[in-house]
Amino acid sequence: MTFKALVVDKLEDGTTKASVQDMTEDRLPEAEVLVQVAYSTVNYKDGLCIGPGGGLVRKYPHVPGIDFAGTVEASDDPRYKPGDAVVLTGWRVGEAHWGGYAQKARVKADWLVPLPDGISARQAMAVGTAGFTAMLAVMALEDHGLKPGNGPVLVTGAAGGVGSVAVAILSALGHEVAAVTGRPETESYLRDLGATQIVAREELNETVKRPLESETWAGCVDAVGGAMLARVLGQMKYGASVSAVGLAGGAGLPATVVPFLLRGVNLLGIDSVLQPYENRLRAWQRISQDLPMDKLEAMTQPATLADLPQLGADILKGQVKGRVVVDVNA
Ligand code: NDP
Repeated sequence: MTFKALVVDKLEDGTTKASVQDMTEDRLPEAEVLVQVAYSTVNYKDGLCIGPGGGLVRKYPHVPGIDFAGTVEASDDPRYKPGDAVVLTGWRVGEAHWGGYAQKARVKADWLVPLPDGISARQAMAVGTAGFTAMLAVMALEDHGLKPGNGPVLVTGAAGGVGSVAVAILSALGHEVAAVTGRPETESYLRDLGATQIVAREELNETVKRPLESETWAGCVDAVGGAMLARVLGQMKYGASVSAVGLAGGAGLPATVVPFLLRGVNLLGIDSVLQPYENRLRAWQRISQDLPMDKLEAMTQPATLADLPQLGADILKGQVKGRVVVDVNA
């Protein structure tokens, strides 16, 4: 019995090529749980793994897809039985281990999370790693004192996957949300998600000599990094926190320590890949509670396995708006 998978092959000239191929179960990696995948999605890392690899993929042929949701078909682990609805994000699945761009995946039981009540497999992948990480970022800000009424919360890379979900969650929680985007045409989309203010990317993309500017933001979810993160640190209110999630604008940080020393600003690192199980459960629970599903639907576009090579290239160029749900059985 064959099933479909998006397979990335390494060609003789050293380049890679992704194509939909027939796959068999005996080629899947060894692990305890066989999952019938229903949906996957497209994150920035997926763009790297569908395309040039970005140093993430260890060997070829490779099946990318850093997250998926589906139903357990067979399990050698007592925590899961056939028919259980599950979701997976992180653990280097889709990078070092074959991932979710296939109709079946075999993974470690430790990597799975039971799908929370009230969320379908499709909705879970509309959230995906990007949305899960946005929730972790918001939870970290709350754990460091962010409350509605503290002032505007900045979201950078707002029209991207992490940013879109962060805007929707923060707005639903009652925060004023300022959305930074380099795509002015996304303004009405971002306002529909709950942004109350749109900030042009150019306004924050340049470094300034002054380490401190006026205290403006009560919190920040930053998907961009680089010069923008450095600039934002100097604009945080006293004692406020920034959740550093991504590097869409660069991995450097041309900043000074002055905001930490004179304003007690906190820079919080957010990693979704190796999050402990209890935090994963907490984040998915909060997503089912605090992310309005109509807003999630409004930021989601459908796709198939065959669409992935193009979508992978698009997300690397910052051209994907919101979230993509990949129906691997379409
Ligand atoms: P997307 O491509 O969907 O979103 C990134 C957004 O950043 C773009 O849509 C764009 O937003 C903005 N952007 C892109 N290039 C630049 C630039 N040069 N300067 C400023 N802004 C830019 O990716 P995701 O939302 O999926 O991921 C965002 C980041 O978070 C990535 O770096 C990703 O690797 C990281 N990430 C980290 C995780 C973790 O565990 N820490 C988990 C998931 C993602 P706009 O058009 O609105 O300006």
